[in-house]
Amino acid sequence: GRQFFVGGNFKMNGSIKAIKDIINNLNNAKIDPNVEVVISPPAIYLLLAREHLRKEIEVAAQNVFDRPDGAFTGEISVAQLQDSGITWAILGHSERRTILQEDNSFVASKTKAALDGGLGVILCCGESLDQRESGTTVEVVTNQLKAVAEQVKDWSKIVVAYEPIWAIGTGKVATTEQAQEVHAAIREWLKKEVSPEASANTRILYGGSVNDKNCKELAKQPDIDGFLVGGASLKPAFVDIINSKV
Ligand code: 13P
Repeated sequence: GRQFFVGGNFKMNGSIKAIKDIINNLNNAKIDPNVEVVISPPAIYLLLAREHLRKEIEVAAQNVFDRPDGAFTGEISVAQLQDSGITWAILGHSERRTILQEDNSFVASKTKAALDGGLGVILCCGESLDQRESGTTVEVVTNQLKAVAEQVKDWSKIVVAYEPIWAIGTGKVATTEQAQEVHAAIREWLKKEVSPEASANTRILYGGSVNDKNCKELAKQPDIDGFLVGGASLKPAFVDIINSKV
């Protein structure tokens, strides 16, 4: 079976004090030992998080660059994350695709670099409202994944996060049917385009307005293997989302 996975994407939120408070809450919480938990604070707080957080919880960067070192002002390398005990990177988030203009091939190149350097990758995909309404959701999502499949054959350290853009930060969560349908399509695509093993073993997370109220129903869907949580990961109720299977 696929181990349930819950990620907390803090985005550009928090302060030293706020992040220490979140970490203290997680350190003292009763967490289902069957769940893999990863939190992703802003880059400047990654080391602080790693230093204070209980060992079972891992830390993810919200981005990483695809070159090993050199004159790339403002960027952070895979080796620098490894050196700091940061074992995951979130890549291809819709906010970076739209606001920072990252395209499919750049996301794929960074995914390859992260995996080659030994990181796990939370690879985000998802359609806009226009794309959903025009019926191209599965095409958009599989095109985003295809760019990665062209460069990466081993998907064992990739966790896919399906995050419909219209559900992110809007309070408009996808229905369990809408989410399950796309998750099943991604799993089918993995089977055809990557391998039957990747299809069976890859965790597919749902992200977009997940909270402690809607998580349990979503978690029951056969192809939903966890969540990537934004706003609610900053609150104590994040623990209830982590424990949504118990
Ligand atoms: P919200 O949970 O705030 O909608 O954000 C989801 C998200 O983008 C996680 O990466």
